[in-house]
Amino acid sequence: MSESSEAVAGSVAERFEELYGAAPDGVWAAPGRVNLIGEHTDYNDGFVMPFALPHTAVAAVSRRDDGVLRLHSADVDGPVAELTVDGLVPESDKRWTAYPAGVVWALREAGHTVTGADVHLASSVPAGAGLSSSAALEVVVALALNDLFGLGLRGWQLARLCQRAENVYVGAPVGIMDQTASACCEIGHALFLDTRDLSQRQIPFDLAAEGMRLLVVDTQVKHSHSEGEYGKRRAGCEKGAALLGVDALRDVPYEELDAALERLGDEEEVRRLVRHVVTEDERVERVVSLLESGDTRAIGPVLVEGHASLRDDFRVSCPELDLVVETAVTSGALGARMTGGGFGGSAIVLAEETDVPTITKAVEEAFAAAGFTAPRVFEAVPAAGARRVR
Ligand code: ADP
Ligand code: MG
Repeated sequence: MSESSEAVAGSVAERFEELYGAAPDGVWAAPGRVNLIGEHTDYNDGFVMPFALPHTAVAAVSRRDDGVLRLHSADVDGPVAELTVDGLVPESDKRWTAYPAGVVWALREAGHTVTGADVHLASSVPAGAGLSSSAALEVVVALALNDLFGLGLRGWQLARLCQRAENVYVGAPVGIMDQTASACCEIGHALFLDTRDLSQRQIPFDLAAEGMRLLVVDTQVKHSHSEGEYGKRRAGCEKGAALLGVDALRDVPYEELDAALERLGDEEEVRRLVRHVVTEDERVERVVSLLESGDTRAIGPVLVEGHASLRDDFRVSCPELDLVVETAVTSGALGARMTGGGFGGSAIVLAEETDVPTITKAVEEAFAAAGFTAPRVFEAVPAAGARRVR
């Protein structure tokens, strides 16, 4: 496990001072996330249920008033990048700097006064592992600027602006889940989020108290959201909504799914996408009611159902993710599923505490036998959302 954000804050501030010649105005942290259930629903106005990881992006930031934006990451080789807030152009930057610069662009475009900043950041969220390193980066910068420029924006408002930064400035058509999770999650809770209006409910999620654990298995297969497959799924969902005459697939009631599928006739591709989204929304609601009624172990099979739907209907899994789920379940896990956008990244495994060593070993052995790169397995405990740490 990585050090706590509070512990890292000191060294990030020191490095800031070396780079920029003065101490930062403050240090902020924003977490990555795993999604318990509700995948590919967030761009269909549906339901999701992420929780924050202890892994965070930590940023030391000082305000500037001369229009200059300087950016540096401890995790990327290279000098400080120097930009100007007036010179930010969407989709002009293919490097990591597009994420923080995009946040500045989105804030200014929404009419907020942001006149420059010096930023140095370091992140313990693994990049491209489906754990939302990009949202952590955006949200930590947004929160710092919100504080330093006195913008008074709430977490969900910052999340919307970060999503806009990623959609328009970076050019990745992602939904609203990752940014909202990073900005709004609370320690010890999963966030039940309605992505249509961003209404939210914090659901207590303390597995350790009930003798269970949630493992994250990072397959080390890198995905890339900006590329074609994600966009194709999204376009297919939009087509489905249009054919069914609804604003978004969220508006197709679960009870009317069969009738809706019939109406889609021979649009087989669209039918599969619609079936996943509508059943996935229902699964999120089922998990919420199971957790709220204290029947935590019963969410296991719902996770497995969700994985099958992503694998067979939405077709965003990959052999490594399928192998984690299959191996975990056959070696005693309560449930497992891929998490995040898919095509690589991570899976989650829900297990009795006592079964964790057996399951971990089984997954590692299965990967070795299949000739896959060894996975990285760690335990996830619901951590805090974005905050100032210094
Ligand atoms: P995910 O959000 O699932 O980790 P993305 O493809 O959305 O994957 O975002 C990964 C990108 O975010 C990286 O390619 C990089 O540009 C940026 N990024 C993530 N962490 C850092 C970091 N510590 N420093 C600089 N850039 C980072
Ligand atoms: Mg991302």
